[in-house]
Formats: sequence, structure tokens, C-alpha cells
Amino acid sequence: MLSAGELEARRALLAESPDLAALARRLAERAAPLMARRPSVPRMKALLSTEGGMCLHDGTPLAFDPWSPTEHRCPRCGSGFSGERHDRAWARFQHLWLAEQAATLAALGAIADHRGAAERAADMLAEYAGAYFEFPNRDNVLGPSRLFFSTYLESIWLNNYLAAATLLREAGLLPDSAAQAVNTVADEAANLIGEFDEGFSNRQTWNNAALAAIAVWFEDEELAARAVESETGIVAHLVRGFGEDGMWYEGENYHLFALRGQLLGMGWAAAAGGDLLREPALARQLASALRAPAVTALPDRTFPARKDSRFGVSLAQPMYLELWEVGLARLAEPPAGLWGWLAELYASPPPVAATFDSYLYETGAPAPSAPRSRADLSWWSLLEMAPSFPADVAPWSPGPVLLESQGLAILRRGDRYASLECGPYGGGHGHPDRLHVTLHANGRHWLSDPGTGSYVSRDLFWYRSTLAHNAPMLDGVSQPVADAWCSAFAADGEWTWARGVFGELTRTLVAGPGYLLDVVELSAPIDHRIELPWHPAGSVEVVSGGSWTPDEIPGEFVSGAERLEGRGDGAVVLRARDGGATLTLHLLFDGDLLRATGPGNPGAGGPSTFYIERATGRNATLAAVLEPSGGVASVRGLRADGAAFLVESASGTDRHVATVEGWEISGPDGAVRLGGARRRRAAPRPLIDMNRPEPARAFALHVPEPPPLAGTLDGFETGQPIALDHEDQYRRSEEAFAGAGEFSATAVLNWDVDGLYVGLDVVKPDVVFRDAGAPPLRLDNEPDDLNSDGVQVYVRLGAEEPAYGFLAVPADEEGAIRVRVTEGSAGSAEMVAGAWQRTDAGYSMSLALALPGWAVRSGDEIGFDLIVNEMRPDRTRRAGQLVWSGGGGWVYLRGDRHAPERMGIVELR
Ligand SMILES: [Zn+2]
Ligand SMILES: [Zn+2]
Repeated sequence: MLSAGELEARRALLAESPDLAALARRLAERAAPLMARRPSVPRMKALLSTEGGMCLHDGTPLAFDPWSPTEHRCPRCGSGFSGERHDRAWARFQHLWLAEQAATLAALGAIADHRGAAERAADMLAEYAGAYFEFPNRDNVLGPSRLFFSTYLESIWLNNYLAAATLLREAGLLPDSAAQAVNTVADEAANLIGEFDEGFSNRQTWNNAALAAIAVWFEDEELAARAVESETGIVAHLVRGFGEDGMWYEGENYHLFALRGQLLGMGWAAAAGGDLLREPALARQLASALRAPAVTALPDRTFPARKDSRFGVSLAQPMYLELWEVGLARLAEPPAGLWGWLAELYASPPPVAATFDSYLYETGAPAPSAPRSRADLSWWSLLEMAPSFPADVAPWSPGPVLLESQGLAILRRGDRYASLECGPYGGGHGHPDRLHVTLHANGRHWLSDPGTGSYVSRDLFWYRSTLAHNAPMLDGVSQPVADAWCSAFAADGEWTWARGVFGELTRTLVAGPGYLLDVVELSAPIDHRIELPWHPAGSVEVVSGGSWTPDEIPGEFVSGAERLEGRGDGAVVLRARDGGATLTLHLLFDGDLLRATGPGNPGAGGPSTFYIERATGRNATLAAVLEPSGGVASVRGLRADGAAFLVESASGTDRHVATVEGWEISGPDGAVRLGGARRRRAAPRPLIDMNRPEPARAFALHVPEPPPLAGTLDGFETGQPIALDHEDQYRRSEEAFAGAGEFSATAVLNWDVDGLYVGLDVVKPDVVFRDAGAPPLRLDNEPDDLNSDGVQVYVRLGAEEPAYGFLAVPADEEGAIRVRVTEGSAGSAEMVAGAWQRTDAGYSMSLALALPGWAVRSGDEIGFDLIVNEMRPDRTRRAGQLVWSGGGGWVYLRGDRHAPERMGIVELR
């Protein structure tokens, strides 16, 4: 953010720079509708739901039109939609867009002498201030928020809101009354954002930026110091959030989002007097953060959709162009080649503007007809980008590379890009896709990581499964959440190789001039079924013969499974075609080849066929040659010869063999030896520390007869009750723990040879539950019964035993309860019986759990936990929960999941 003096200097540059002048003209053109007509400030809080803002017919997000608050259109099929859910989905973008527009108008007023724009901006700021407290801080999904449902959105909004206010103030264009109004917003936002620290998170970069903006607004040095220097502040995020290789630990999608927040935060920090880039180490770290997504970009200049990520998004989106413009302008020594990279992006085919929470400037703009230019950017570039693009920049020419902390090996050669995922799982946005292979060649994305569609639609579970990837899996289930590592990487002339290790699996990818050799190996002490899915793009035929016969692959998303019969002894050859290009796969393995239909890539518009190699044993080798070609394929066959693989092609036979040092290829042109062996590095200190206190302990008393389960504690042995009444057992949403008098619970645990009995007395003023016939909430993928008074019970009989979990809620006034198994838990709802009753103080519930393997004796210890959800009459989502084993923190995004390690211990007496 620029001070009065800096604004003066920028005004002078604008007068001399054709690029800045062109950008200012474009911004003024885009702002013209706002000058002609006052935009509408929605008087509603944004709502996230599964249906709001989505086309009912095809699931496409509805187009965002700032001038149409109640009529919403599907860009794909043209259908129109209205209703509160759609309006409140629209409000999310409208609030964000209005703040962007306020900042644009303020920048035009502050440095382009656009007086009317400054006045309109000041009006908009004051209007929000007048309404800010009318938006309830309630029913949020992820953190306190008034305008939105998540804190980070409030932070994105506030960055623009305070940018507008600060620009106007520094330019002497903010009336006192408007400044007072901004004070009230900034003050309340400081409370909301300041109390919700998300640890190391892409979202926290935005929260940090917002806090730094508030510090600049109030000239609050203490707050500035906290935003910059705290354990999860701006410096810590720069150093630890972006890894040694510069890539954000959650992958490209979140890298780009976090980098914008990070750059904004660093800008505010500089305005508060702390320019971090004066520190050479921090400048180097920013340089590598700017470099990383250029290094991993696919040849079509989209970023790979690794982990939770949008699919197929071009880096030539103006919002990304601006990251490099601002970042490179700030660095005294920009990394070599990045101006060339940026020039390449500007020259590439212009993507249609996408809708981003943090970039809505292109809303309503027609599809671009010419490549993107510097005039397509936002007010931020008007303030910060270099006045002219450097002349004679060197071309960007990336090569093979291993991103160390990301564990991403890229075997790049010209326009062929192959990568092997051999790094850590990647936090909460990670996928079970370790050892996944991506391939892009001849302009086609032959083998892709699909990323993630929508967080609130069902297919999320497909995209977060191993089967949706080109990655190996064991015994028919997705990979466990665990890290892979890279045991070798080397490039030598025409050849590059990488090897990844994931538990009992290794994958070796060797890239030569004409083809790639891929070897997946299983080595385990016991038999497994190993499956390797392939999802080639284009239309695929089996070249090597055989016929398809019906088979079965279990799974909600998979249909039409078939198995190839009569495949013969040699490799199965598949050929995928797309236009004039082909990808040929020679699959050499001992087992079955299956094919089936599953969801296509997000946005692809329909299902697609994929293939699975399946083998069984303790040891298995699945070798493949991948040959992408723009013309005639040259590879004729793949054979095994002992431990060696022979790849026969038009130019002769290459013999591949693993050696002690690495990999050796000998062919018509001589031999190449690839080394580059690596050690597994000690796991880095986790970004999120789970500090585990001593486990909670309690007793379950033996009863000679089972309690009658009347919904009360009648018939229970009530000695040794356990209490849930403490602030540090409470997980809050927006409001802090109101005290045991408002919400608390006492439970007794009993047992006999048939099972475990739980009696529960809950103190709370209202009992709020969902009637069996209530319409579904359609908020997200979580069970609706979370947003009800009720309990979650978890039991594990031993560390190696399955963890059972049940969610039980009142179902009617007659005392019936409704039970479901919690996500990720074993068991079935029939294992739980019980009832409930209203009491003077709240309600009581009695439950009997009959679990398989319940053969316990006095003195045994079992894992146990009890969580009591709190619902209130004026809310859509639960207000909080009490956790027997100790809670604390926030209830957001937990659903009914509970890690077995968190359970307390109950001794049977
Ligand atoms: Zn539609
Ligand atoms: Zn993925």
C-alpha cells in the first residue's frame, strides 16, 4: 500500500509509462458502470450450500452477474434460477466484487485524478460500515465471519476494503465521516480475524494480510508486529509454508492462492514500516516461491491439478499474471528467466477469465479475443508493476527437476512432460495418490491428476480416491494417508529417471528420447492384490487382441466393469488417439486387465473409461512403456529378460536394468548409467503440532442386569460418572463456552457380557432436533444430524481393533432415537439401541452398544469417547460440542470424524 509520497511518485510514473496509462484507461472503462449506477450491496450473509449457485440440471456454477441479485443464469444450458439459496451464493461474490471495485475506484481517484471515482468509493465504504453489524456472525463453516461463512473470505474482502480506504486517506480524498465508518469495520474485523488463527494454512496468509492492513489503518504497531512476526505470521508463512523448493506445501492451486495473500501481506507490512525484502534470505525465498509454479507448469501453461485443485486452469489468467508482475517488480534481483516466463504467458492463448474469490475483476468481461496484456490486470498492478516490461528477456527453458520438499519429480524434455509424485501426502488437501504419474505430450494431457471438483458435491469422494489417479493401490482400497519419498533422481543427456517409494511399493520412471519406461513393484511379506489404474485421454483401443467380458469393480462411482480375456502372454498394448496424436501403452504384467467407467476430469462434461492392471502376490512387477507420438509410433514391444526390460523399437533394442548405483540403459548408441541415489530425509517438523495431553480416564461399572433403556438413567449404576462441563472440553463455533449452566453433560458407563451401556444427562435450555420427516439441509457432504442435539460415541476394544463410532440423535417426542455410523468408523447402526427423554434441565438418553468381539472382563481397558453436540433454535448449523477426552478449539469442518488416537481410556470394573 502506498503512502502519500509514494502515490505522488507513482502519479509521475503514470504520466510517462504507456503501459500504466493503458491499464488506468482500462480500469476506468471497467468502472464506468459503477459511476453510472450505484451497485447493490446485498443485505444478506453469504451461504455455502450444495444447491445455491449451482445449475439444477447440470451442476454448473451459475454465472455471477453483479447487476442481477435475484435472477441467476446457468452459463452452460441457459436455465434461469431464483430463490434464497441462489441469492445467498451470489452474495458471496457480490461482497467480494464490491470491495474490489471500491479499491479500483479509490486507486483511480488517488493516482489517475478521477475525482468522481474517489467519491463513489468513499460512499461504498460508508455504506458497508453502516450495515456491517447487521450481518450475523453465526452458522459459519470455517471461522468467524459476518459477510461470509469463513474467516478467510472476510479477510480477502477486508484487504480490498482497507486498500480503498487507505488509498483515499493517503490521497486526502476520504471524508472524516467515511473514515469514522471505516474505523468501526476495521475494529470489528480485527476481533473476528484476530481470534481465529488457522496455523499454517493458505487461508492464514490472507488473515495475516488483513491483520496487517488493520494495523496500517490504525497505525497499530503492536498489531503489525503480531501479523508479521508471530509463530503463524507473515514471515513464518514465507519461510515455512513455502518449502525449500519454493512450492507451497499444499501444491500449485493453494500455492497461487497463498502467494497472493502473502504478497499482499508483505505489502502491508512494508507500509507499516517493515519491508521484509530488505532481508536477503526472505527475498530469496520469495524469488523461489515465484519460480516454483513456473517450473512445474504443464507445457500448455496450465498448472497440474495436484491434491485438491481446480483442473486445467491456465497460468495466463490475469490473476496469476499479476503475481509475477508484482513479485518481480518488488525484487531487486528477480530470478533468472522469470521475465521470459511472464512474456511467454502473455503470448500464450488467452484463457477465458475464471471466477476466483480473490479475483473477480473480469466479471462480465467478454471472452478475450487477443492474448492477455498488462492492461488486463487490476488496480494492484497500477500501483506496483514495473512501468515497462524489460526488453530482450531470455526465453524460459525449464528442464528436468526434482522439487525437494514437494517430492515432485518432473522428467521434462521439450514439450513432453512426465512427472512422478513421490513426496509427502500434503496436509488436509492431500490425495491418496502417491506414486501417481502425469503425462503431457504433443499438446495433449494424456495422463492427468484430476484435482478436485467441488467441495460440496458427492464426486469429491471420487476425486479423493486412489482409483481416480494413475497411482497404485493395494487390496481394493485407497492408499493410506502416508508419505512417499524419492529414492533416486538423475538426468544425463537424453535420459532422466526418478524412483519413488511408498511403503511396500516402488515406482521407477525412466524417460528417454522416444518413450518412457515405467516399473511399479510390490515387495511385501504377505500376499496382496495390487491394482494400477490408467486414465488415458482420447479414445482407446486394445491393439494386442482379446475380448471383453463382464466383471465387477465395487464402488459408488464405477460402472460397466469388464475384464480382457484371451490377452495372450506378452504385453497388452493400448493405443489412445486424440486428433493426430497417439499415446501407446505397452503393459507387461502377470494378471488381469480390466476397464470400467468413472467420472471424467472435473468440467470434462461426462464419464470416461479407465483401465486397471490387477495382479496378486507378495511380489509383483507391473512394467509399462508409454510412447506419446505426433506421428507413427516407433516402439514395437516390451519384454522381460530376467531382471531386465527390453524395449524394441524401429532403431534397435534398449536394455534397461536396475544396478546397484541406479539404472542402466544399453542400446544401439551405447550405454547410459543413471545414479542420483538419495536418502530418505527425516520428516520435517509437522506444520501442525498435535500436542497430546494425558488421555482422559474413567470407569465403566458392571451391572447384573442391563438397564431398561427408557431414555433415562433408570437402572444404571451411577457411581463414577464422567463430566463434560469444562471450558477446555468445549469446541466452539462463533461463541465461546457459555458455562456449565447453559450447556453441560454427565454420563455413566456400565457394562455386562452383552455390551456397553451409556446413560447421559444433558443440561441445556432448549432441545433442538430434526424431525424424521424434515427436508434435507443440503449444506454440504456432512450428515444433517450433526446439526441437532445429540451424541457421538466412539469405542475401540484395542489398538489393533476396529474403531466404532455412532451418531445418535432424538428422532421424535415419543423417545425414539436415530443412529448412524460416523464417517470412517466400523460398525452398523443396528449395533446401537436406545431412547431419549426431555428433562427439566434439558434431556437424557440411554444407549446400549452391542459390538462384535465384545468379550471383555473386569479390569480390561478400552478406548472410549463421548461428544455431545449443541444445537440452538436460531441456528442452521450446530453451535459447538463438548468432548469428554478434551476438546478446545473450534468445531468447524470436523463433521462426525474423530481420530481413534484421541479417545480416552475406560477401565471396566
Ligand atoms: Zn445448466
Ligand atoms: Zn489428486
